Amino acid sequence: MAMRVGMGFDVHRFVDDPDRRLVLGGVVLEGERPLAGHSDADVVTHAVADALLGAAALGDLGRHFPDTGPAWRDADSLALLAEVVRLVSEEGWSVANVDCSVVLDAPRLAPHTAAMQARLGRLVGAPVSVKPKRAEGLGAIGRHEGIACWAVALIER
Ligand SMILES: [Zn+2]
Repeated sequence: MAMRVGMGFDVHRFVDDPDRRLVLGGVVLEGERPLAGHSDADVVTHAVADALLGAAALGDLGRHFPDTGPAWRDADSLALLAEVVRLVSEEGWSVANVDCSVVLDAPRLAPHTAAMQARLGRLVGAPVSVKPKRAEGLGAIGRHEGIACWAVALIER
């Protein structure tokens, strides 16, 4: 059996926009400050998709979903991840597991990680782990300017 590992990263800054909602791992966090982005700015789902593309050596998210076109404007990133899973499985790969570290000081993610893991896991067809991590006041994330996410994905065929 062949195995490949991929690393994904994404970062989005917070924005004050009453028309946007904070979406992380496909879960809407009502009443929380949203992130800026062309799509729904789901930084967790983007990092997972990026890791899967990387594992299959299929390039990065920007290549498949350019943020210049109208197709993915305000898009549900779960649809984007579903398309990435389709591309990866088209190459004969299946996902073994995904692990994410979400770096943010606020809001508290712990009450939502189970829902995120379930939603993402159903989409990729494998266990997905989501671990929140505080920036301890350091740098842009520590100043509450945005949220970053790292993800590692293992695929096999
Ligand atoms: Zn993104």
